[in-house]
Amino acid sequence: MKITVAGAGAMGCRFGAALFEAGHHVTLLDGWREHVTAVNEAGLKVTDATGTRALPIPAVLFPVGEPAHGVDVPADLVIVFAKATATAAVAAAATTAGAIGPSTLVLTLQNGLGNIEALLAHVPASRLLAGTTTLGTELLGPGHIRALGSGETVLGPLPDRSPAGAAGGGATEPAERIALALYGAGISVRTAPNALEVIWAKVAFNCVMNGLCSIASIPVSALARYDGFDALAGSVLDEIAAVARAEGVTVDPAAALRLMRAQFDPSASGDHLASMLQDLMNGRPTEIAHLNGAIAARAAARGVDAPVNTTVSRLIGLLEATWTARVNRLHQETPG
Ligand code: NAD
Repeated sequence: MKITVAGAGAMGCRFGAALFEAGHHVTLLDGWREHVTAVNEAGLKVTDATGTRALPIPAVLFPVGEPAHGVDVPADLVIVFAKATATAAVAAAATTAGAIGPSTLVLTLQNGLGNIEALLAHVPASRLLAGTTTLGTELLGPGHIRALGSGETVLGPLPDRSPAGAAGGGATEPAERIALALYGAGISVRTAPNALEVIWAKVAFNCVMNGLCSIASIPVSALARYDGFDALAGSVLDEIAAVARAEGVTVDPAAALRLMRAQFDPSASGDHLASMLQDLMNGRPTEIAHLNGAIAARAAARGVDAPVNTTVSRLIGLLEATWTARVNRLHQETPG
């Protein structure tokens, strides 16, 4: 397949590398100049348990003219892997580059709410696939990723909201075709009948993990050890379930809590830092507007109460705005 990865940071490069090594024609499309240059000069460096290898995958910098020089267009598949805050810009770049043609499938495995809405401006629902992945990847520097451990990828069609479909699952054939390609690239993958249920379940997980760990500035294992975890997480989850219900999606707070207790187990999660906390520590914008912030906004639009998620979102906003003034010690050493 001809595949364009639009937004080729840590995860985009991870999926791009796996598909490239499986024999697909992959192009990485990204907006970070040093990263694109490094990939084109020395290959994409991938470090994993087997060592480090450099893959000669072409990379193209956006914004690009039309049609983009170096992009193999139109693609059979465009994988959008920007941060949720950049989805609209990245999708526009992929469109301008000519990557999204009349039969191109577009796949998003990004975290958060709002990605699907942004992508629907560029591709019809029948050709948009969505889902989640629990694979972890770090961007070590320009042109270099570290692939962490194992994880599962789940993808499926959007519900068919046409009168004929009456919100049943959309066609499953495209999802199965792409899942097969990912499986062939060594990615553990399964399909689900309704991508929205999969995405909302991960949103619930991330609203608790990212929101609370970032406010407390703690690793995930410390959240799991906190005695008040169930009550605190439950207050976030109950609101998410109510908003999801108003949008025709089922989120089961009890099941979400069970999953978190298992995954946040100190022996399993160790010193892992939530990505939102890492973004704060690195002075980067967080995905809060697509997590608790999106819950707050959608709750307000639908007349549902969501004071906890609204407050979590506002507190993360405060941390984003004031992180450099954060006090970590009681006494500052005075020189001399
Ligand atoms: P990322 O931060 O690695 O990359 C996102 C964008 O930021 C890329 O365009 C990248 O080029 C750019 N970028 C990164 N560092 C930069 C720097 N120093 N200077 C300039 N530009 C820079 O994003 P990601 O971790 O791949 O996440 C993409 C999506 O996947 C998000 O929605 C995320 O929540 C989700 N996700 C990530 C992981 C993970 O382990 N990384 C796992 C599951 C889901």
